[in-house]
Amino acid sequence: MSEPSVFTRILQGEIPSEIVAETERAFVIRDIAPQAPVHLLVIPKTQQYRDVVELAAGDPALLAEVVDLAHRVAAEHADGEFRLVFNTGASAGQTVFHVHAHVLAGGLDEVSTGA
Ligand code: AMP
Repeated sequence: MSEPSVFTRILQGEIPSEIVAETERAFVIRDIAPQAPVHLLVIPKTQQYRDVVELAAGDPALLAEVVDLAHRVAAEHADGEFRLVFNTGASAGQTVFHVHAHVLAGGLDEVSTGA
């Protein structure tokens, strides 16, 4: 078993963060370093998948649940339109290897495509 990721530690209450929404298998927090007016992270509760490629291959239904939850929180926190970013690999900017989707919303005119 690998070391708990920062997101697993948040889920277990070891690192403080408000869980703003959740389903049986995924949860949502605010990014600690927001890159847009609304910047949320949708995270599977399992850390079994490092990135979205592994998640899509291993549990496509969970990936669909992540996308659905992203839409739900984008509707709650903005107008329901959003950019969904999965940084995949260190050279693409991924720093936490527990798959997560960045939900960027709320006026993206000034925001670049990177999260
Ligand atoms: P990535 O670089 O795509 O792996 O995204 C990791 C994201 O997690 C970054 O945008 C960080 O700002 C965010 N992050 C790291 N630690 C925390 C934390 N304790 N609470 C909320 N967001 C965090």
